[in-house]
Amino acid sequence: MREESKMYTCDMCGKPTPNYREYSPALAAIVGVQGRSWCDECRRELRIVHEWENEQEADERMICPYCEGEISDSWEYEEGESEIVCPSCDRTFEAEISSVRTYRTRRRIEDMPDGWDGGELL
Ligand SMILES: [Zn+2]
Ligand SMILES: [Zn+2]
Repeated sequence: MREESKMYTCDMCGKPTPNYREYSPALAAIVGVQGRSWCDECRRELRIVHEWENEQEADERMICPYCEGEISDSWEYEEGESEIVCPSCDRTFEAEISSVRTYRTRRRIEDMPDGWDGGELL
């Protein structure tokens, strides 16, 4: 039997809505709530905003969300949030710039045992 009368409150605008999406227990533990209710109107607005933002995947290249061209001087921008003007289409967009850390490690040469022949690792 379907529960048709059950109403929830939209998390976004506070209007009553029958929409409810229960999170998986793992997700609920992370976000601290059991689920969310978004009315149709708010869902539609969020979808439109999301479509508009045209967010680009985190990438080593900076891609303009308008013309999808690569920003060639992306290395000149500082770490953090920035507004960037695309050199190809002249439109302004937001970018989150993170510096990716890599680690290269090696043993110290002075710790190499005398007479080691490059065989079996010690
Ligand atoms: Zn709403
Ligand atoms: Zn562009």
